[in-house]
Amino acid sequence: MCGITGYTGNKRAAPILLDGLKKLEYRGYDSAGIAVRGPSGKVTVVKAKGRLKSLVEKTDDGRTVPGTCGIGHTRWATHGEPSESNAHPHYNDEKTLFGVHNGIIENYADLHRKLTNAGYSFYSQTDTEVAIKLIDYYFKKCNDPLEALISFMLRVRGSYALAVMFDEYPDEIFVARKDSPMIIGVGEGETFLASDVPAILRYTRDVYYIDNMEIARLQKGRAEFYDLDKNVLQKERVHIDWNEEAA
Ligand code: GLU
Repeated sequence: MCGITGYTGNKRAAPILLDGLKKLEYRGYDSAGIAVRGPSGKVTVVKAKGRLKSLVEKTDDGRTVPGTCGIGHTRWATHGEPSESNAHPHYNDEKTLFGVHNGIIENYADLHRKLTNAGYSFYSQTDTEVAIKLIDYYFKKCNDPLEALISFMLRVRGSYALAVMFDEYPDEIFVARKDSPMIIGVGEGETFLASDVPAILRYTRDVYYIDNMEIARLQKGRAEFYDLDKNVLQKERVHIDWNEEAA
């Protein structure tokens, strides 16, 4: 169970994603990756096996990856060996949907079979690629990211902290959670996502906690929460008083 970071705002996302992943290194991992949407709308994915340092070097500390909205991940392999193709982010065939996941999809073999019958093929051994392609399958049916995520949550068994970017919603990150931690930080015109507080402390101390079986829609400086009936949830923003030295 490793790390997720996310950012949407007006600053360059990649250095913020990598900085957050460094703060989550204590959780352990075997590979890392980021996906960032550039100014043209196209998403760049960079992955590296092994230490986060390799990803940092590959991207010149994020400087070579343009864009202000992205997601980052450190993986602790549960399905498929540690490798670059199994590292997250994962994506659909058209590369229009990108996602990172911490946790385990227990019924992934069954879902893999169903998606294969529906015409999907797979480039990795991960349960996460199956999860992303299941969301893709639902999104193509309903064209609504919230509904696609709800269908996904009703269909899968297991645990997940999940962050997804859709081409159709260029500055947004959609988040779903079950039995895997995740917090959302909101600053002036920017929103942060992380598995744990230290990853975002440098940027904001105003956070929301996303609960089990909830969805969050992150926009620049704004987070909205939904239940599985698509009702908007009213959440309190919490100000964290966190002493970094003591942590
Ligand atoms: N089960 C996923 C995988 O093996 C995610 C593991 C994690 O939590 O990092 O890729």
